[in-house]
Amino acid sequence: MSTIRLPPRVLELAREAVAAGTTDGLPAYVYDLTALDAHAARIRAALPPAAEFYYAVKANPDAAVLRTVARHADGFEVSSGGELEHANAAVPGQPRAFGGPGKTSAELAAALRVGVTRFHVESPLELSMHAAAARAAGVRADILLRVNPPGPAPGARAAGPAGGASPGELAALVMGEQPSPFGMDLVLLDRCAQTLAELGNGPLRLRGLHAHLASGLDAAGLLAAAGRLLAFGRDWCARHHVTDPEFNLGGGMAVDYRRPEVRFDWDAYGRGLARLARPGETLRIEPGRAVTAYCGWYLTRVLDVKHSHGQAFAVIAGGTHHLRTPAAKGHDQPFAVVPVPDWAPPWPRPGVADTAVTITGQLCTPKDVLARQVTVPRLRAGDVVAFGLAGAYAWNISHHSFLMHPPPLFHYL
Ligand SMILES: *Cc1c(COP(=O)(O)O)cnc(C)c1O
Repeated sequence: MSTIRLPPRVLELAREAVAAGTTDGLPAYVYDLTALDAHAARIRAALPPAAEFYYAVKANPDAAVLRTVARHADGFEVSSGGELEHANAAVPGQPRAFGGPGKTSAELAAALRVGVTRFHVESPLELSMHAAAARAAGVRADILLRVNPPGPAPGARAAGPAGGASPGELAALVMGEQPSPFGMDLVLLDRCAQTLAELGNGPLRLRGLHAHLASGLDAAGLLAAAGRLLAFGRDWCARHHVTDPEFNLGGGMAVDYRRPEVRFDWDAYGRGLARLARPGETLRIEPGRAVTAYCGWYLTRVLDVKHSHGQAFAVIAGGTHHLRTPAAKGHDQPFAVVPVPDWAPPWPRPGVADTAVTITGQLCTPKDVLARQVTVPRLRAGDVVAFGLAGAYAWNISHHSFLMHPPPLFHYL
């Protein structure tokens, strides 16, 4: 099931495109900023006051989206010099954390110049670069060391903080045994602690740990992972004399593309964070997908419908070079059909009824599939199709120039 209910204002916009006598205005992205504003407000309200909510800019860096999120978020997490520069222009004056692998010295210098408040350090080499950059800038930089993400796969081990485990066992629980280019295992973490001790009261101030715990977990799963991280992190920070530590628990809150009406349970998550929180500590999250996915719509029209060896295909204007999410995630992007009954081309109008149809785009590659074998009541050439959950990792992760089709329009509601 990959159909989705279209909000009245998005439907209205689709109908307007059709009523204008043309669908030349399609494909188009529609960002429902009103819905985003309400959703971000709900997220903030569900979290305990002591928890900080940063938005991961990489999920959708659209300036209007950032400005809307800024009304409710405590700050922004950027993962490159480009995102940093962009966020500075779009939402100036907001606290910013700078994370991500492969930072360059030039990026660190630029980040210090514009007053980035937290750096998430990915390796011992990066730590040395940070120290040099902070020294050169004549400032102290606040850092969190990023530990390797998740331990056990969801459901693989009993949930809950690992009471009574040794530091080594706790580390294994938090960080798992999976090799990863992101963050550091216990060996590298301790090497960083050693370097920091040698630097003394120098250019860097260790504030705590960062961990992007998992991707696509529900509230219970993320809270269990957070419990494990905190059990390990409190012990590690105490051993390394970090007082009032900060723990950034990352993002990864689930978005269910098969059931678009089911949302991450922010209330349960907020209650869980309140239970986990201890006075003096800061807990911070940096979700992306679950914040902005729901506000985005990709509207387009059906160019052609045909059958091949018994299967129905609908070819839409645009495709995965505009909306790469279904190709990247290997799912069916949920959609709604907006019928256009009175389009009468001077040739027979092909269509299907009560049939499973595969929706493909204009690219000359079999990978340009947005939804596979989804049963629709009716779909004809000339109809409008609106893909939902297109507000995160959608336009900005797509390979726009492949085949050189025109870009979509952008509308903001
Ligand atoms: C991508 C990323 C996020 C955001 O993840 P979502 O799944 O979009 O919530 C947060 N923190 C880090 C370090 C990331 O890499």
